[in-house]
Amino acid sequence: SRTALTLLGTGAMGTALARAWLAAGHPVTVWNRTPARAGALAAEGAAVAATAADAVAASRLVVVCLLDDASVGEALEHADLTGRDLVNLTTGTPAEGRTRAAWAESRGARFLDGGIMAVPPMIGAPESGGYVFYSGSRALFEEHRGTLAVPAGTRWVGADPGFAALHDVALLSAMSGLFAGITHAFALIRREDVDPVGFAPLLASWLTAMTPAAHRTAEQLASGDYTTGVVSNLAMQSAGNTTLLRTAEEQGVSPELLTPYTALMARRVADGHGDEDGVGMIDLLVRPGA
Ligand code: NDP
Repeated sequence: SRTALTLLGTGAMGTALARAWLAAGHPVTVWNRTPARAGALAAEGAAVAATAADAVAASRLVVVCLLDDASVGEALEHADLTGRDLVNLTTGTPAEGRTRAAWAESRGARFLDGGIMAVPPMIGAPESGGYVFYSGSRALFEEHRGTLAVPAGTRWVGADPGFAALHDVALLSAMSGLFAGITHAFALIRREDVDPVGFAPLLASWLTAMTPAAHRTAEQLASGDYTTGVVSNLAMQSAGNTTLLRTAEEQGVSPELLTPYTALMARRVADGHGDEDGVGMIDLLVRPGA
């Protein structure tokens, strides 16, 4: 028989998770602060608990998917976590993950933190490629791996309970830069009579061609050698980037999304690293005074 589980939070993501487990035959108990939002799941076979404490008492495996870390603390305030396996799929910071792990353990629970790399339509659809980063109790993860793999793929990233959030936020931060670039590129063509639909495939394939740069960056960071095999050194890149800024100016497009990266490049060159690849900018971010 399939593992019974409790799910706290039936928002967009929680509902998708509950549906995936119900469809796979797991007995699911749900609780939501606003009870009406759990109603649809009752019709699909979920047991609806009146309070979060009742929901936690119903199953040993307790999955939480609420708005933020503060709502997790609030929802679980009066629940007895003794002997529970708590899996927190609420997005938070690494420090929140670590603090929440210590809090859960002090209340007698094993704790696993998760960072969901999927949107609700990708949940329960393995072909979508959605997955969840997990960190914290390895024993909990191993014991419930099969159940956790039902809604999305699983990726273990370490015993440090902050690591799931760290990986989640690192990927989202990279995405933020990518979207900033896409936004600026469309702003430039928007000023002219360029068809955005015709431009989009050029942009998408250009970005795809650039992403392997991540591997080279990793190799240079790992070796500590930032100068061997450099194709376009930072001094050249930095000079080239003035064209990007001048074009924004000429075209009447705000450079605000470009300037922080350009300024960081110029600083690294001014520090005497113009012959290197851009990887040294990472050190500049991590140790701003160095
Ligand atoms: P929703 O806004 O749809 O749902 C939020 C849930 O949190 C609701 O169940 C809400 O209850 C509950 N909640 C909010 N505040 C409290 C509180 N103080 N006490 C108790 N319950 C509370 O968000 P999602 O379901 O989309 O997101 C849930 C988590 O999943 C978030 O951490 C989000 O970052 C993460 N996630 C979401 C993704 C997405 O695409 N949706 C993608 C990846 C991660 P109520 O109904 O009563 O308001």
